[in-house]
Amino acid sequence: MSDENDQACQRCGETVELSQDDYELFERIHPECFHYAFEHDLNKPGISVDEDCGDPACPSGA
Ligand SMILES: [Zn+2]
Ligand SMILES: [Zn+2]
Repeated sequence: MSDENDQACQRCGETVELSQDDYELFERIHPECFHYAFEHDLNKPGISVDEDCGDPACPSGA
């Protein structure tokens, strides 16, 4: 499989359904993966991905 348009997430491996610009902007990972990788534990170090970190953009938020 060598689809030039395939934008695979560098973190979870799933296809990223974003424009290429956004894909590059998010370091070639999903916005959620970007959040978990770089933002999720900023305020609460060691927090699990299932917990809401308090960020309004947190995918784990209610
Ligand atoms: Zn991902
Ligand atoms: Zn979070």
